[in-house]
Amino acid sequence: MADFKYYASDDLNNENYGSHEIEVSLEGESGLQEQLKRCTKNPGHTKFIPVDDFKMDHLPIKYQDEDVLQMIKSLSGLTVKLLTNAVSPARPDHYNNTRIPYPLSKYKGFINIASSGSGRVANVFKESDICKTATTVEHVWNVRVRTAAHVVFDEFEMDSVKGIVGYDSERSSTTILTGKRLRSEVCEDFSEIEFLTEDAALAGSLGGHLNSYYDSCFKIKEKFEGRAVPDKKLAVVVSHPHGAPKQVSVGEWIRMDESRSSSDFENAFIYGTSTCAGSSGGPVYIMGRMGWVAPYPHSGTHKEGNFSSVVSF
Ligand SMILES: [Zn+2]
Repeated sequence: MADFKYYASDDLNNENYGSHEIEVSLEGESGLQEQLKRCTKNPGHTKFIPVDDFKMDHLPIKYQDEDVLQMIKSLSGLTVKLLTNAVSPARPDHYNNTRIPYPLSKYKGFINIASSGSGRVANVFKESDICKTATTVEHVWNVRVRTAAHVVFDEFEMDSVKGIVGYDSERSSTTILTGKRLRSEVCEDFSEIEFLTEDAALAGSLGGHLNSYYDSCFKIKEKFEGRAVPDKKLAVVVSHPHGAPKQVSVGEWIRMDESRSSSDFENAFIYGTSTCAGSSGGPVYIMGRMGWVAPYPHSGTHKEGNFSSVVSF
């Protein structure tokens, strides 16, 4: 486990521009939309591209490549919105060994507060069979979603979580999943939720996105690994800023965050790619790191840039 250190934000009392990036509304889900309009971090959201509109021209020229584009499309297909309406009484008051308030700690025990983050499907597999009739068997699929621990902290919060799949635009038809199990690593700011579904078409679609994502990542590794150093710092975020439909943002990573990294195989990154409240937990593709395949959950923002959770490979 990495020795955890968190950064102070410019304004620890401002829930929308603090160290974390979950979106919070005391007025329920409808209040989230209002906060999109009031955004002060990225007014107008000009650096966020709706996933359905993302094309090659949105990539810097040096990263314009069919496999990079396909990787982003596949990662978009795996990204989900995570909406909760309860705050666990077990959230700590402060980050470990600091005086910095832990996200939502002042709302501990509330059960009518909407908070919105993002996550990424990391695995899909058949969990069990259900005998519907003597001759009909249906499968139960396990969909594992990774996010940041401060987005969905424990099973108390998981009981209220909605995993919203396919919210690509206001016109999209979405599927809502409910969580069954959760494990979290608070120091690494990482959690994994297990959703169960009997929707075979959904499981097949997500499995297809997973295969395509890994296939694209390995092709990118083959192409870019031997290229000149300046061409290896792409950092892509897919998330639901302010709980709105899914957006892609593109930039470059700045450096490995040494203060929260223990090795090349367990580390966190800092990047300039745009994020907003609601982006927490969304996947961050960091070119050239973690075997070129493992995206990092987005964790928060500070003076130097935006930063990820700690990921082990
Ligand atoms: Zn914003």
